[in-house]
This record gives sequence, structure tokens and C-alpha cells, in this order.
Amino acid sequence: MMKPKFLLFFLFLSINVFAQNFESIKRYKVNYAVATTGNEKLLAIRSFVNNNQKYLLLVNPQTLNAKIDLANNYSLSNLAFGNVQAIFKNSVYVKVMDLALKSDRQLQNAGIDHAIPKEKGITLTIDLCPSHKNLDRIIFQSLINEFKKIEQPVPLAISVSGKWMLKHEGDLKWLKSLVEKKELDITWVNHSYNHEVNNLPLTENFLLTKNTDLDIEVLENEKLMLKNGLIPSVFFRFPGLVSDQQVVEKILAYGLIPIGSDAWLAKGQKPNAGSIVLIHGNGNEEIGVKDFIQLLKSKQIDVKNKQWLMFDLRQGLEKM
Ligand SMILES: [Zn+2]
Repeated sequence: MMKPKFLLFFLFLSINVFAQNFESIKRYKVNYAVATTGNEKLLAIRSFVNNNQKYLLLVNPQTLNAKIDLANNYSLSNLAFGNVQAIFKNSVYVKVMDLALKSDRQLQNAGIDHAIPKEKGITLTIDLCPSHKNLDRIIFQSLINEFKKIEQPVPLAISVSGKWMLKHEGDLKWLKSLVEKKELDITWVNHSYNHEVNNLPLTENFLLTKNTDLDIEVLENEKLMLKNGLIPSVFFRFPGLVSDQQVVEKILAYGLIPIGSDAWLAKGQKPNAGSIVLIHGNGNEEIGVKDFIQLLKSKQIDVKNKQWLMFDLRQGLEKM
């Protein structure tokens, strides 16, 4: 029998691995491997070293859940990306990737733009593009209030850009505190590091801007997320929802699934059951925030009757 003191120590250790702030990441790279331990078969998509320990970013190909763990907890066999699709052929992960390819030529809103939840409701995605303004905390407070005793924690996805994280340490800490209090369950989505935006046409804007370095936009953002104690999910949201076929294919080759939206509220698009709703929470989209608060109010009775729920992005894609 282990002494309680030791048990507590190990409990702390295991929590620490998942919620760690990785301050000194080295050799961060795309690295595909089948990672097995016990009867668990996961896909490693990144590897890195922090304080002389080797870590992996691991994806469960069925649940789309992502986690960080020590590499030596797994037996690993390395793969080329092309083989990932063959080995995990029947998984949710590969099916959803194939689906994302169907819209890869769209200049806007490529990728997955709606989900198939088991019950009525929507998936909420909130984009945090670079901004000098404060986080619209009212979105999160309203959600927590409306779904109290119905859904706790409330699941949602936040797409975070590097430049937003660098300027909003306090807001980020506040969001993380809501996760710790089990009021929110946040899926962290990569929204690129620089989130370039200019006055040129869409074909030369956002990630399509000349000289864009995707390694910086994707991998540096993930490193910054990890430094801030956020676990990068398997999802990617294109800045401005703008991409071309080449960029979509490259994002998939990073092992990431592009997430669009069929209900960008500020653009007047109305949400249906299964919609992936988009609002901006970075202080720059007053209309979207107002529309969302209004939407919550209009659904109050449905929420109480559990006829309108918030869906985790991962679960909504399992049935695709
Ligand atoms: Zn954005």
C-alpha cells in the first residue's frame, strides 16, 4: 500500500503534466507516430523537449481529444502523414479530414462548418484575433449564467491567435480560472500566430498574404499556447475564414482540421441545429456579441427544457 502522502504526490504529478506551462520548449516539430500504451492507440502529431524531457502532443482518432504526455509512456512507431490516413482509415479523425477536403477550393469558409450533435443545439466558437481591446467577458458570464444546472461546465471552442495571447495575459488567466472552476470546458483552437490582415483582396490577404510562413503561423502559435498552459486541439481556424486549396492541404498535413462556420452572427447568418456559430470576443465585434446575448435570451425556455444545448466541437463531429 502506498502512503496517502505519496498518492497525493503522484496525483499532483499527473495533473501537472496536463496543465503545465511549458516555458522552455525546444525541438518542437511535426512528428507522426502511432503511440500505444496498454490498450490505448493514439496518434502523436508533435514532439518537443522541455527541461530535458521529451513530450508528445497526442490525438485520440475516435474522440478527437488532444493531450500532452511524456513520450516514454508510449511505445512509438513513426509514420509519414500519408500513412496516417491508411492506418486510421475508419477513424473519426480521418473521416472528418476527408470531409474538410471537399470544400478546399472555397476562398472563404473551407473546412467543417457544421456538426451533427445528438440533440438540439449549437457549437459555439469564439475567435480571439489580435486586438487592443479587452476580452468581451460578458459572453462567458452570460453563458455560465444561462446554463447553470443545465450544462456545467459549458463546452465551447476558443480560436486564439499568438498576438492576442501576447497582449491579454490577464484575460487569458481569467478564462483559465473559469476552466479550473469547472464553469467552462474550452477546446483551444489554433488561429495562427500573426493573423495578418491587410487592405488587399482576399486572394492576397490573411494566410494568403505573400511570404506567409505557415511553420510560424501554426507551430509558433502552438508553442505559445503550450507556454501559456493551453493544450492545442486538432482544430485550426483560418484567419478571416480565408484559405485556398494549397493552404487547406498544408493545414491538414500539419494534422489539423480546418473549422469554418455556417452561422457567423455578425454577418446576419442564423444558427440551426448543429451550427458551428462564430462570434468574436476580442472587443471588435459589438454586433456579434449583442446578437449572441440576444440569441441566448430567445432560447431561455428551450435551454431550461434541455432542447437547446451547447455542444463540444469534438462530440459534434463524431457522427459525421
Ligand atoms: Zn480572426
